[in-house]
Amino acid sequence: MAFDAEIVRKDFPILQQQVYGKPLVYMDNGATTQKPQAVIDCLVRMYRTMNANIHRGVHFLSEQTTECYEQSRRTVQSFLHAPFAEEIIFTRGATDSINAVAFSFGEAYVHPGDEILVSEMEHHSNIVPWQMMCDRKKARLRVIPMHDDGTLDLEAFRASLSGKTRLVAVTQVSNTLGTVNPVADIIREAHQAGTRVLIDAAQSVQHLSIDVKQLDCDFLAFSGHKLYGPTGVGVLYGKRDLLNEMPPYQGGGDMISCVTFEKTTYNELPLKFEAGTNNYIDAAGLACAIDYLTALGLPEVQAYEKRLTQYALSQLKNIPGLRIYGEAPERAAIFSFLVEGIHPYDMGMVLDKLGIAVRTGTHCTQPVMDHYNIDGTVRASLAFYNTEKEIDILCEGICRAKKILLA
Ligand code: PLP
Repeated sequence: MAFDAEIVRKDFPILQQQVYGKPLVYMDNGATTQKPQAVIDCLVRMYRTMNANIHRGVHFLSEQTTECYEQSRRTVQSFLHAPFAEEIIFTRGATDSINAVAFSFGEAYVHPGDEILVSEMEHHSNIVPWQMMCDRKKARLRVIPMHDDGTLDLEAFRASLSGKTRLVAVTQVSNTLGTVNPVADIIREAHQAGTRVLIDAAQSVQHLSIDVKQLDCDFLAFSGHKLYGPTGVGVLYGKRDLLNEMPPYQGGGDMISCVTFEKTTYNELPLKFEAGTNNYIDAAGLACAIDYLTALGLPEVQAYEKRLTQYALSQLKNIPGLRIYGEAPERAAIFSFLVEGIHPYDMGMVLDKLGIAVRTGTHCTQPVMDHYNIDGTVRASLAFYNTEKEIDILCEGICRAKKILLA
């Protein structure tokens, strides 16, 4: 059956409500996505019928939750096309995943004088952990610049790669500009230079199909809450051999094999990187979200989002005085814009009163703002439950805001 956003929307209870007496138009999906009833039901069912701590019990409930947790891992594994289940580490989110690599990989592989490459369009989550690691390890953070259209300067990237580069950390989709970066090329070229690559998939996992085996990335990070799943859970994928060689970054229960005061030995993957009681309930919720999305049909969802993106672009471009930041030919449904003479915060406030939820500010990408010499933008970020009708409402809202704010 053809994908029908109007029907699919009914799966999301929050979208059925009104704000300020107006139908909610939710366009802040880059910050977090809404949850389908199936995910909400999954969480309630888990707490009502099978809650018990994983891995440490021999009783019925604990065995059930443990099996459910490991099944959730296998769901993520097959979603990412990872060769082995133990390459999937559950974390608190993309930020946590990146920090884990920065600490653990940094301990094992980064030495004074080494270099880490990030791009100018990274989220702060994919900048600051590397800065902190570089400080610790006396290494140097280098930046791949971007062009004004929001595409990466790949010539500069190639020129920056050297024998000193230990890792390239780059986003697959920019949360501010919508740019889809050519990560397969970046990974291939980095590998040719002997460099490992981490892909920040926080904004791509919900828009694109990801095959870590085909991409050949060394690490990949994403958050559950941006993939229609619960908050507080995320994923770090890492190649098994590499993870095996890396030291744990947190100590505690579950990550050990044997503890004495003289010496502790660590557990096998993936538990080596999952210290303490992990978020097994939300991991199940994330797996449920993945099942939901997969059942909708990823190709259909992606084709719909592509059409929506083209429609949004064409409509936004019709508004006099509106400038879109980020015009990469390959892009996701994320639109940052400014209207001449209007502060983004004011625009966001007026849109809010019309029931339209957008985000304003720097979107945790201050270097992108510095690139354009601006303080912030308005960002509308779409999901498959958004419609052309809602894009029309957004555009009408922007025009209304212009009338009010420029009067
Ligand atoms: N990377 C990108 C590209 C993001 O957009 C975000 C969040 O907006 C993150 C990382 C951090 O995600 P989280 O706050 O869920 O850890």
